[in-house]
Amino acid sequence: MTAPEIPPAPSTPPAGRALPVRRPDGIPPEAEGKVNLLDLTPAEAERVLREFAAEQGQPAYRATQVVPRLWQRPVRSFDEITDLPAAFRAALAERFALPRLQLVAHQRSSDGTRKFLFRLADGQAIETVAIPDRDRLTFCISSQAGCALKCSFCATGVMGFQRNLHVFEIAGQVRELALLDEDPVRATNIVFMGMGEPLMNWKAVDPTLTILNAPNGFGIGARHITVSTVGVLPGIVALGERPEQFRLAISIHAPTDALRGELMPVNVKYPLADVIAAAATFDRRVTFEYVMLGGVNDRAEHAMELARLARECRAFVNLIPLHPGGAMGFTPTPADRIVRFAESMRGRGVEVAVRKSRGVDIAAACGQLRVERLGRRAPRSAEDDRDVQVA
Ligand code: SAH
Repeated sequence: MTAPEIPPAPSTPPAGRALPVRRPDGIPPEAEGKVNLLDLTPAEAERVLREFAAEQGQPAYRATQVVPRLWQRPVRSFDEITDLPAAFRAALAERFALPRLQLVAHQRSSDGTRKFLFRLADGQAIETVAIPDRDRLTFCISSQAGCALKCSFCATGVMGFQRNLHVFEIAGQVRELALLDEDPVRATNIVFMGMGEPLMNWKAVDPTLTILNAPNGFGIGARHITVSTVGVLPGIVALGERPEQFRLAISIHAPTDALRGELMPVNVKYPLADVIAAAATFDRRVTFEYVMLGGVNDRAEHAMELARLARECRAFVNLIPLHPGGAMGFTPTPADRIVRFAESMRGRGVEVAVRKSRGVDIAAACGQLRVERLGRRAPRSAEDDRDVQVA
């Protein structure tokens, strides 16, 4: 069942309505000239709010009243913080911004998976998926608009890189789902497996991790937050240096440089041996992601080679059925073959899980909804772009 509940914004505005101004930097007009509290960690927000309270002749505890309303029990505007004096609320709104992301599409899968498309101030669109599983609700969030990596089976790769997301746009996805008018949802788990390569936007992902984890942020345990990467080495080091137990998933997808290079052009820059070495020195256990591509990376010898790599760095392996509708030219590995692949690896002492494909009926794999709704706009060249920031 595909049930778009909120239609996409019309491409041509109705007569008489001003054309929306496209902001090249993604900063919404309402945030211009103001301090964007949603780009700050809770500790930074607390500090600027304390200074502001002092300036306004208000007690310092006003800051402690506002901070939990950014993420923990979020509000749409300062006006909703009704335990503050009205004049102080008005003063806050003059100095600070709480920019929203515009929800333009919402689909619900028959398996309960929900997919959201947000439009940003510069017209970019990003996706967020909420995946229920027993008592968990995992949000799959985006860290970039588009992606520079061009993995051959991935829909986001096809659209190319557009720009890095700001902190308020990454953490904002989680905030917006807690603010839905209908059926708001709170994440128990977060995976950075939406659009983009999180470790090529470390400048924004680093503070976002703090917001997700902080008790006065979303309060999600670090072990419940997974950063997924193709193996951006400086980013892996930066993540490993964080004291919290954030999890690392590495998209391996092929056990040899020759095959991995074909599927993932980034393998030239970060070859398999270096990625495995980084995984081995990462001080927490890592997960390998391995998308099963029929007739490509699913033969018996691939299982053997993958098992050897996994043992080398004590990795847990997730076998992922190919989500149909990514890039063209691939077919999923049949289910019985995936099971045999997994058994072969288990026989070699590797822990393996076969993931369920979720939200197949709503095109929930990386980048698919955006491609459906927006078509394929021309990518910008990542190399020329000072936005592409590695760790
Ligand atoms: N750039 C990061 C995170 C985004 S993609 C990374 O590559 O890890 C998150 C995961 O979804 C990756 O493992 C990616 O390979 C996988 N993926 C992309 N397209 C897919 C598809 N069509 N079917 C199944 N998994 C897919």
